[in-house]
Amino acid sequence: MTNSSHQQVGLKWLYFVAIFIALSLVGSQSDNSTLLQKIKARGELRIVTRIGPTTYFIGGNGSSGFEYDLAARFAEYLGVKLSVIATDDMRNVFRLVNSGQVDMAAAGLAITPERDKLFDFSPFYQKIDIKLVFKQGNFWPRDLEQLDGNLTVLAGSSHSELLLRLKQDHPNLSWHENSTLAVDDLVDEVLEGKINYTLLDSNDLILQRRYHPELAVAFTLEENNQLAWAMKKNADHSLYQATAEFFSLMKENQKLANLLEVYYGHLENFDYVGSRRFLRAARKKLQKYQTFFEEAGSQELDWKLLAAISYQESHWNPKARSATGVRGMMMLTLPTAKQLGINNRLDAEESIKGGSKYFLSMFKKFPDRIQEPDRTWLALASYNVGFGHLEDARILTQLMGGNPDKWLDVKEHLPLLRQRKWYKQTRYGYARGDEPVQYVDNIRRYYEVLNWIYENQEKNTDHNHDQILATNQ
Ligand code: GLU
Repeated sequence: MTNSSHQQVGLKWLYFVAIFIALSLVGSQSDNSTLLQKIKARGELRIVTRIGPTTYFIGGNGSSGFEYDLAARFAEYLGVKLSVIATDDMRNVFRLVNSGQVDMAAAGLAITPERDKLFDFSPFYQKIDIKLVFKQGNFWPRDLEQLDGNLTVLAGSSHSELLLRLKQDHPNLSWHENSTLAVDDLVDEVLEGKINYTLLDSNDLILQRRYHPELAVAFTLEENNQLAWAMKKNADHSLYQATAEFFSLMKENQKLANLLEVYYGHLENFDYVGSRRFLRAARKKLQKYQTFFEEAGSQELDWKLLAAISYQESHWNPKARSATGVRGMMMLTLPTAKQLGINNRLDAEESIKGGSKYFLSMFKKFPDRIQEPDRTWLALASYNVGFGHLEDARILTQLMGGNPDKWLDVKEHLPLLRQRKWYKQTRYGYARGDEPVQYVDNIRRYYEVLNWIYENQEKNTDHNHDQILATNQ
């Protein structure tokens, strides 16, 4: 061996030592890095959610759902992308969290005593009650002792845990658990008479009732459950800490309230008769006018929204008339009709075109900074109460510390236009300001139902739904 080969061996040796030290430094650094740092380094927050109206679904504008939107905002807050796994099986949700395949579950999960032992939870973002539901017209049990028939709940859910607890005092209580059905399916089973009862969270209930008014509440089993995100227990607390900071910000700047308003704000007052009547009309009457709505619709104004406005205005009656002289499908006043170039307000096609133009004129009047969906809700309110009065309400909103660009804030202040103390400070004076609030709520509800009806029709023809499941699993 020559000197230089000795040297080479020595150098090689040094080289390996250096690499080893470097690698172990990198290794120890990644071991020491917190979960939050890892999430940031990989640029992606991984969540698991469930498929359903309160959590995650593919709507007209792509991925939607309260849980999805909330998690998307959290990802944005962390400066990372959101990656979503959606499943129907509650037990999968927990398996994925435990295995570390996802960072957290955003799946409408209640914090229960058992879960609290096994998982860490973020601060809660919503409170719900658990209700026992049955099909209107069937036997109405008033309490657990009166249950007579098949009660089925989601396997692994907070509901099954609650029933186990209640069984201690009600030894005769029995139920089935299902791990393959989603909330939507359980509701269908109740309505089809395959099962007699299921348990629903109150937020699910109000969303389900838009389409299924015959879903009746028997009684409440538990109140004030807190919904929160679940994380692996004993992981470091960095992610929990980030959720805590995120939620305190979301509460402080009203963003949480605004998001809740988007999904639930218009559904507070359930009207059984009205909901049934609307569903029937949508199935039987709308077809006749559908092409008129489609032709008058545009990029900015979905024909289904226009149809929803028209139902609110006239129940799709071209000859409708009100005491104040407004008439037709879109209930236009004579001066408005003239201004819009409409000759005959009683002609359905003309009236719909006029209504569309009128709505868009409102929609475009607002400053550019006002975003959707607030822009549409404000435009609807002004379609109803008039642009001037709505401006008054927005000014009052601002005066009282609210945000005049947010429907959530404006709808709170609109009713003040009835009170002398307030309307005398405004430019346009008195208005029945509670009416546009109801008006907008109704139209939002009708619109959602129409979207649901037409999406389901499409789903049945192109099997959209299966593709969604396949790509998310
Ligand atoms: N909130 C329930 C749970 O925590 C799930 C059922 C539902 O969303 O209706 O298990």
